[in-house]
Amino acid sequence: MSRNQTLFEAACKHIPGGVNSPVRAFGSVGGTPPFIQRGAGAYVWDADDKRYIDYVGSWGPLILGHAHPQVIEAVQRAAANGLSFGAPTAAEIDLADLLCDMLPALDQVRLVSSGTEATMTAIRLARGFTGRDKLIKFEGCYHGHADSLLVKAGSGLLTFGNPSSAGVPAAVAADTIVLPYNDVPALEAAFAENPGKIAAIIVEPIAGNMNLVKPSTAFVKAMRTLTENDGAILIYDEVMTGFRVGLHCAQGLHGITPDLVTLGKVVGGGMPLAAFGGRADIMAKLAPLGPVYQAGTLSGNPVAVAAGLATLQLIRQPGFFEQLTAKTTQLVNGLQAAANAAGETFSAQSVGGMFGVYFSKSAPQSFSEVMASDKARFNAFFHALLDEGVYLAPSAFEAGFVSAAHDEDDLHQTAAAAARAFEKLR
Ligand code: PMP
Repeated sequence: MSRNQTLFEAACKHIPGGVNSPVRAFGSVGGTPPFIQRGAGAYVWDADDKRYIDYVGSWGPLILGHAHPQVIEAVQRAAANGLSFGAPTAAEIDLADLLCDMLPALDQVRLVSSGTEATMTAIRLARGFTGRDKLIKFEGCYHGHADSLLVKAGSGLLTFGNPSSAGVPAAVAADTIVLPYNDVPALEAAFAENPGKIAAIIVEPIAGNMNLVKPSTAFVKAMRTLTENDGAILIYDEVMTGFRVGLHCAQGLHGITPDLVTLGKVVGGGMPLAAFGGRADIMAKLAPLGPVYQAGTLSGNPVAVAAGLATLQLIRQPGFFEQLTAKTTQLVNGLQAAANAAGETFSAQSVGGMFGVYFSKSAPQSFSEVMASDKARFNAFFHALLDEGVYLAPSAFEAGFVSAAHDEDDLHQTAAAAARAFEKLR
């Protein structure tokens, strides 16, 4: 038995499902997850000492690759001064100033420890600010595991949502309206049916939790116009896309100024750190200034802030995103060429350092189109690549991530591995 299997069995004894976050368990692709012992640059090594070229990057944060020396050094320096104080530190000002400088939508920002906290609070803030309860989210978008967000569409298009997890009260789900992504008429109809009642739209401005799905220009514009006209808040959930698709995030690419923004992953450089922020008049409603409560023992943790600052400083270097984008484009072109050569029905696309691969003729525009792709074939491809030492996210519904540490050779090796994997599928 491999050491990975031994560890997985041992983990299952005292950890539910053997994992501390469900998708790590390989539930949708089957098999035993590798246990990672270390990472360096573009690679991770599992418990059997097998090396993988990693396109998960801790699900997005590791844009500089694993154990980047400058990030590790910043973390070590901060840790030597103490791990947590529960009192303000100067580095928090540096990070807040930097974030507000990089994103015009941010007048003010608050640091938290996870994306879930950021989105949960952004929604509370939108509700507290507007005095309204209803929330619009889109099918296939994930915003963390707060009750009001674990909701799926009801039977009719404009019916209220149903809980998508046990333990979520129907009454909470009832205030969430779930609409199809990229569907402008559905969005217009939701505002027409609920005038003055919608507190906020929360959206992944480039979706990455139903695999990568790009928004249409019309959809992006409609969200901004409809919220503005109705007095609702537009929340860009950039936990995944923030500092991943470009230096000014998806909002920079779209030329849109959202009212509130949530950040996570890259902003913490691999440490538990996330943030939410936006318009000064909305942020003024937050405790201790205003009536909307939010708090955190480890919020703005000095070690996490040091990792985030070091990461952001490095990705601000001139040419960083041009190079990362070129690498990611080269990767998806290599995969597509390998698929074409094998006669496989396959498509791939990327934005900045984020990519999607699909076992379908063209890149999907919505959750239902993603669902129509060939999942069994993805699973077989995933395992063939894993055998080859290439680690993709273990699900057909996840985006992939390239880091600055991936070099020419890694990308060539990946394309060659994919060619062999596609051959195996035939
Ligand atoms: N929003 C988005 C867009 C995400 O991708 C995620 C995590 N994948 C979250 C929120 C939740 O973040 P966390 O896992 O840090 O709670």
